[in-house]
Amino acid sequence: MIKRSVIAITAILAMVSSSLLFAAQQIESVRLHRAPDHTRVVFDLKGPLDHTLDKLANPDRIVVDLLDAEMDFDVADLSLETTPITGIRVGSHEGNRTRVVFDLSQAVRPRTMVLKPIDPHGWRLVLDLFDKGQSEPVKSVAPADSSSNVARPVIVAIDAGHGGEDPGASGPRGTREKDVVLQIARKLRDELNGLSGLKAVMVRDGDYYVPLADRRRIAREKLGADVFLSIHADAFTDKRAHGASVFALSLRGATSARARLLADIANDSDRVAGVYQEEASNDQLLGVLADLTMEGSMTHSLTMGRLVLEEMARVTKLHGNRRKVEQAGFAVLKQPEMVSLLVETGFISNPGEERNLRDAGFQKRLARAIAAGVKSYCETYPKPGTWFAVQRSQGGSQASSHRIAPGETLSSIARRYAVSETALRRHNKLDSDLIRVGQVLEIPR
Ligand SMILES: [Zn+2]
Repeated sequence: MIKRSVIAITAILAMVSSSLLFAAQQIESVRLHRAPDHTRVVFDLKGPLDHTLDKLANPDRIVVDLLDAEMDFDVADLSLETTPITGIRVGSHEGNRTRVVFDLSQAVRPRTMVLKPIDPHGWRLVLDLFDKGQSEPVKSVAPADSSSNVARPVIVAIDAGHGGEDPGASGPRGTREKDVVLQIARKLRDELNGLSGLKAVMVRDGDYYVPLADRRRIAREKLGADVFLSIHADAFTDKRAHGASVFALSLRGATSARARLLADIANDSDRVAGVYQEEASNDQLLGVLADLTMEGSMTHSLTMGRLVLEEMARVTKLHGNRRKVEQAGFAVLKQPEMVSLLVETGFISNPGEERNLRDAGFQKRLARAIAAGVKSYCETYPKPGTWFAVQRSQGGSQASSHRIAPGETLSSIARRYAVSETALRRHNKLDSDLIRVGQVLEIPR
């Protein structure tokens, strides 16, 4: 029995190696993603493949030789806009060798890696062309001077999940998570920037991938963020699953099986997108000291999460109708000194919610709700040295009041004074949105 299977395996191996010898691998697709500091070119392979990489000057060009491979795609389809690539030439050479030449407008630092299959990809050869002068490590921002009289804004880093080679989940109509979360993230940035005391910055602002550890480190160390929001969309095999949810970090296990599953999926992004070894090791768990610092941020994350859920419940259904912030070991949230949340905006696998997530109007309502939750948190817990802290110390008891006129709603008043509806309700001890003409509301500062 054992002997027979050995023979069978030998026969298969012989077949495989002969097919490699006599039939060159067909490379049928290639993708290109432009990031702020590099250009990523990805070849989809049928199996592992040997290649060589050469960098030539005068004029600058990169030459990649793919051994035992035939290219069967049109490089003219690739958009080279904003890349240093001025042209791509493909030619066959002796010994089943396919040569791909990248003509460049400036010198780059090239690097390649071969990636094993991982859903939704097969084998891949990744060629990264790093822009020159982009190799400096992340620069730390100077800590804010708390003695200064100038109130600084609260900085919110918005992380659109996935990107580039990592499409995230997809919907029945083919909607990709990486696309809709970027659209929502941009609307969220605009909403936050329209509010006093807040400044929003994007961690990813295009169709490219940023390693998970870099996302939170860029947010904190480069952008100086106080708040970190990672925007995602959910998916499940049962199309009926629906609703938005909010997650925070846990250092000790997950609060539910679903939260653990979601964290596992989210933490797999680096492998789907393909990151270099040293980038992956950046993401090792931080030390005990960092964990202690993180406990404080996590309490605040849970508080902000509840306020965000409260606002989101006005514009969309919540998953399981629960206003509970779940927790799990999300690598992207594991950064001390930031109040960090991962927002699942809805189920892209649910046909109705997929339609919503694609809809610009819905995206805007959702973005406005998340922004209102963040603002509400900043008002309730003003961070020292920020605009919110100064507002509180200057305003305090002398909050202005507003007499309700016909046609006004709680939300129109909230917008007029740039406060959240939640803050307005809480400040006036209102149980519902019901208000009457002539009633006087105190406006929180
Ligand atoms: Zn996601």
